[in-house]
Amino acid sequence: MSPNRFEPISAELQEAYLRLGRPTPLFRARRLEKALNTPAQIFYKREDLSPVGSHKPNTAIAQAYFAMREGVGALSTETGAGQWGSALAHATNYFGLKCKVFMVKVSYDQKPYRKYMMKMFGAEVFPSPSDQTNYGRKLLENNGHNPGSLGIAISEAIESAVSSPNTKYSLGSVLNHVLMHQTIVGQETLKQFDVLDVTPDVMVGSVGGGSNFAGFTYPAIGQTLAGKMDTDFVAVEPSSVPSLTAGKYEYDFGDTAEMTPLVKMYTLGHNFVPPSIHAGGLRYHGAAPTLSLLLHEGVVQARAFDQLSTFEAGRLFAETEGLIAAPETAHAIKGVVELAREAKKAGEARVIAFNFSGHGLLDLQGYADFLEGRLENT
Ligand SMILES: *Cc1c(COP(=O)(O)O)cnc(C)c1O
Repeated sequence: MSPNRFEPISAELQEAYLRLGRPTPLFRARRLEKALNTPAQIFYKREDLSPVGSHKPNTAIAQAYFAMREGVGALSTETGAGQWGSALAHATNYFGLKCKVFMVKVSYDQKPYRKYMMKMFGAEVFPSPSDQTNYGRKLLENNGHNPGSLGIAISEAIESAVSSPNTKYSLGSVLNHVLMHQTIVGQETLKQFDVLDVTPDVMVGSVGGGSNFAGFTYPAIGQTLAGKMDTDFVAVEPSSVPSLTAGKYEYDFGDTAEMTPLVKMYTLGHNFVPPSIHAGGLRYHGAAPTLSLLLHEGVVQARAFDQLSTFEAGRLFAETEGLIAAPETAHAIKGVVELAREAKKAGEARVIAFNFSGHGLLDLQGYADFLEGRLENT
């Protein structure tokens, strides 16, 4: 929480952001525009260029920095497929902190490469449920083959933080400070559009907990609410985890084990078990409270797409722009493709911008399933 319009970024933290590859470039997708035969202009911000391949280090590095300054010795967290865990492992390593990551057991077994990335940065990685916590041991006694879930991993990471000396729990999305750290993306984007003398008509991002979308759009939403820009904002989610398009706007727990405070948000209910889609980073039952409010007020619109159509959009992007998108990012691309088709129908040269939130080079199993016809269309 902060009442300030802007928060200063210390020189030491700015140096760390430089080493993440900031500022990241803004690209024009001319070859995608051509393939879609659209009058729309499409731009994308390259958040895949960070050391771990996504936008997540933008908050991981800030959280590790402020923890280090407060004399904290270790951070604990949970991770699903491993994008957030690898970002926090990288950041804690940079600032000399220890890192404990509870990784959902099925991903730990089936998607080993993020786990090795975390270990290369010196993090301890446990399959959750684990034998490291009372909660994990209790679950394992009942079922030695418990596959785990994000809810269980959160509970273990919190228990580990409160029962270990000088350890704090860290979260990679949803909360206000996380969204604020990510606004570095949207602030750079506005400056880059300024240089081009272009104003985006629509800004698009995928939503898990909301930090990717918020980081990219909130600076422009601020300008739009102040009457200085006239831009639409489109949040994209999987149709199998439709918190924004089919959820209820009400108070709910942020986790399955009911350990967090109640949060007012669009939610599918904290007991909702998302299907195991490849876009692991979008499998969250709720959404950031500020994003939920903006949706409720009609400032942000939401759209949902099924898994197969997002992978098809991912393939089109690889063929045209030469980049393999993370399955999470492919959701934003699918949204952009639809908006570009609508612009064509209307005969309008709309400027569409989206956040290329991460690469899919460690998600090739998903693309393998897609190419070989095994992808479930949820
Ligand atoms: C985590 C992730 C997202 C979703 O981010 P949220 O902040 O949870 O909305 C999108 N794209 C990529 C590549 C991710 O790793």
